[in-house]
Amino acid sequence: MANTAPVILVIDDEEAIRDSCTQILLKQNYRVETAEDGSAGLRKIKDLKPEAVIIDLKMPGTSGFEVLESLPRLDPHLIAIVITGYATVDSAVEAMKKGAYDFLPKPFTPEDLRVILARGLERRRLVLEAEALRQEKKALEDSFITMVSHQLRSPLVAVQQYFSVILAGIVGDPGRLQDMIRKASQRLEGLLRLIEDWLNLARIDQGRLVGNMMPVDLRKVLGRVIETLGPSARESSVSLEWEGAAGSAFEVLADEEGLEQVFMNLLHNAVKYNRPQGRVRLELREEKDTAVIEVQDTGIGIAQEHLPFIFDQFFRVSRSADKARQGSGLGLSIVKKIIEAHQGRVEVQSEPGVGTSFIVRLPKRPIGEDRG
Ligand code: ADP
Repeated sequence: MANTAPVILVIDDEEAIRDSCTQILLKQNYRVETAEDGSAGLRKIKDLKPEAVIIDLKMPGTSGFEVLESLPRLDPHLIAIVITGYATVDSAVEAMKKGAYDFLPKPFTPEDLRVILARGLERRRLVLEAEALRQEKKALEDSFITMVSHQLRSPLVAVQQYFSVILAGIVGDPGRLQDMIRKASQRLEGLLRLIEDWLNLARIDQGRLVGNMMPVDLRKVLGRVIETLGPSARESSVSLEWEGAAGSAFEVLADEEGLEQVFMNLLHNAVKYNRPQGRVRLELREEKDTAVIEVQDTGIGIAQEHLPFIFDQFFRVSRSADKARQGSGLGLSIVKKIIEAHQGRVEVQSEPGVGTSFIVRLPKRPIGEDRG
C-alpha cells in the first residue's frame, strides 16, 4: 500500500537542526525530506509537494523570507513553520505577515515541534476540505441544466421502466404488480416535490412567496404539517411527537403558506434522514418575544464540516446513505430564505449517528396587537 503519511520538508543550512527535526518527525511517522538552502528547498517543494515546510529564516543565499514569498505560487495551502533565534521576535512577526503559519524559537523540544506541526496540518486539512466542498458546490451550480435534466429524467425513466414491464404482461403475481405500481407512484411523487421546490425558490426570488403577512397561529400550522406527514412517518416506522401542543394560540405575523412550507421541509427531512424506529420531536416554546420551534430527530446526522453548507442551494451531503434518499438539495435553502423574510433565524446542531436538531426563531406578535 502506498505511504500516505504527510511529507514534511525541513529547509535549514545547519546540519544539527536538519538531523534533529528528521529524527523527531520520523518518530511521528511523517515522511521527511531535507534541503540545505533556500533554492534547493524551493526545488524540492515543487517536486515533492510537501504538506508542510519547516524553514530556517537565516540562511546564506536564498533566505527563509524569500522561500516564504514564493510559497503562495507553489501551494497556497502549504503550512510553513519558521525556526527563529531567541533574539529575533521581530523577524518571526515579519514571517507571520508573509504567510508563515507559526514559528518555533530555538532551542525547541520535540514536543514543541510535534504540537505546532499537528495543529498546522489539521488546519490545512480543514481548509482543503472546505475548498473541495466549495468547488463541488460550484461545479453543481455550473451544471444546473445537466442536473435539472438528470433529476427530471431519472424518475421518469424509472416509471417508464416499471410501466413497460407491467404492460408486457409478464408480472403474474398481483402482489408484485401492486408493488411495482407503488414504486412508480413514489417516483412520481418525488418528481412533483422537486418541481414544487424549484417553483417555490423562483417565487421567493421574485419576492412572491412571502407576500401575505397576517397573524398566524403556529399551533395550527404545525398541526396541519404533522397531519400531512403522519402517513409517510408511519410508513418509515418513525414516530412523530409533539411537545407544547396544548394551550392557547401562539401567534406570529407571517405568511401562512410560507411557514407551512418551512415546517414541511424540516419535518420531512427529519423523517427522511431518520432510521427505522427513530423519533422526531417537535417542540414549540416561548423565549421572551420569540417563538422557538425545534425539530429534533434521531437520524443519521450531519458531519461538522458539512454544516456550513447545508442551507446552500443544491447542496446535498454526498454519502452513500444520502444517495438512497431522493432530494433536490433545495429544501433547506427555501427554509432559510422564508425564515429570514420573516426576520427570523434558523440554526442547526447535529451529531453524526445520533441526530440533528433544527431550531427556528420567529419574532412573536405582541399581545393585544390589533388583529387587522
Ligand atoms: P434534500 O432535498 O437533499 O433533502 P435539503 O436542502 O433539504 O435537500 O437538505 C440538504 C442536505 O442536508 C441533505 O441532502 C442532507 O444531506 C442534509 N440534511 C438535511 N436535513 C437533515 C436531517 N434532518 N438529518 C440529516 N441530514 C440532513
